Amino acid sequence: ATDDRIHRIASTIRVIPDFPKPGILFQDITTLLLDPTAFKDTIDLFVERYKHKNINVIAGVEARGFIFGPPIALAIGAKFVPLRKPKKLPGEVISEEYSLEYGTDKMEMHVGAVQPGELAVVVDDLIATGGTLNAAVCLLERVGAHVVECACVIELPELKV
Ligand code: AMP
Repeated sequence: ATDDRIHRIASTIRVIPDFPKPGILFQDITTLLLDPTAFKDTIDLFVERYKHKNINVIAGVEARGFIFGPPIALAIGAKFVPLRKPKKLPGEVISEEYSLEYGTDKMEMHVGAVQPGELAVVVDDLIATGGTLNAAVCLLERVGAHVVECACVIELPELKV
């Protein structure tokens, strides 16, 4: 059942305190990737949710959205679009600035990768404040895509409002 899979997946994620700095409880998905059943179940749960929904685009957030996004895209027959940190993409880009705890960062997408009217799902490993995913949604909406949903493996429950 779905719930069994979710519990098994959750049990493979390693939590490392004080990484990358004091006070952060880092959710480490590399241990999930070491367990082929948990990794497959993770992808399958998203594929079951998004197949038959006419999704055209899986947009993956650098870096861990590049791990979970492509297998979902292949399984549902969508294209994969990387949303990257500044100055990584070689072609013409649009960029979106967003706030971090201290300072700002930028996310970039290739112009022409997504067409107006296309249906998109944004993929990342984890949502905390939602600032990163919000920037991703903005990029896609600026080129006229419809963002159906954001898909994350982990939600930090302590940040729920
Ligand atoms: P946010 O923009 O606040 O929703 O933060 C989400 C982004 O930061 C994701 O790309 C996560 O990979 C990363 N992140 C934030 N908090 C954590 C955490 N506790 N453990 C692992 N990754 C995190």
